[in-house]
Amino acid sequence: MRTLIKAKMPIALALAMSWGPSAVAQTISPDWCKALPRPEYKSLERVLPSDPWFEVYKVSPGVFALYEPHQAEEVISYLIVGSKQALLFDTGMGIANIQKVVTQLTSRPVVVLNSHTHNDHVGGNALFTFVYGMDTDFTRQNAKGSRDDAQEELAPGMICGNLPKGFDPKTYATKPWHVSLFVHNGFKINLGGRTLEIISTPGHTPDAICLIDRANGLLFTGDTYYPAPIWLYRPETNLDAYVASVKWLADLAPQVKLVLGAHNIPVAEPSVLPSLVTAIVAVRAGTVEAKPLEGGKALYTTDGITFLLRAEPAGVK
Ligand SMILES: [Zn+2]
Repeated sequence: MRTLIKAKMPIALALAMSWGPSAVAQTISPDWCKALPRPEYKSLERVLPSDPWFEVYKVSPGVFALYEPHQAEEVISYLIVGSKQALLFDTGMGIANIQKVVTQLTSRPVVVLNSHTHNDHVGGNALFTFVYGMDTDFTRQNAKGSRDDAQEELAPGMICGNLPKGFDPKTYATKPWHVSLFVHNGFKINLGGRTLEIISTPGHTPDAICLIDRANGLLFTGDTYYPAPIWLYRPETNLDAYVASVKWLADLAPQVKLVLGAHNIPVAEPSVLPSLVTAIVAVRAGTVEAKPLEGGKALYTTDGITFLLRAEPAGVK
């Protein structure tokens, strides 16, 4: 049977759209898995190469990308290290223990902050004692934990390679966590020699944020931007808010040297920020052709950016 893997990469989606059912049925490893390793990683400095689940890359001085290539989300969390403390921007799937990896990368105290609270970004939150949270109902609800979204991440075709030793798929769930401190737009975190500032960018979810390190020109964009089809179809997504948020980010582009998104590939050029505005505005104006997918969704590609939206016009407007 033909299935659309819940993957965030153009190649998998292109294959899912262009292959007939029989070709898919004969495939042994998931299509998305065949796109790995992604060539963009060749130029990045890999550290802790022996970890069986996480691939860790030093993407900028004091900034590590913690990439999970064995699961179709290909989620990326970031550890940002200052002279006094470190901030972990997202905690990944919760399939392997991210805290153990973080401990190998820094001896400083670590505070967690999430780009948003979808399950694939908060899986390790419960492992940490200090977790910031945005002051939204969506955040509070997700902090109670859940099982269904986590279980879907293990559906057939979602895993590439082996799950970690000792991992029990049957009991896999997003564990509840405690928000130590509620934070808001403009909140600054001084890590010692490095200051991060929260930019509230609702749209993908009500609690979506970006983080900016102005002195170093780094913009961490979570799921507001990553270099693959951007998911904007869930009920908690608000397209009006998303447009306002990406316009805000485009205004910041002159201050940014590197854009660091939360899936597939950790580095992008700041020129993607104005392109993101052009693309979403064009899609909403109805000038971009929809490529329908199963499940009432459609892909819209323009200006080098792809969005995954609800297929019906109401989903676009
Ligand atoms: Zn998300």
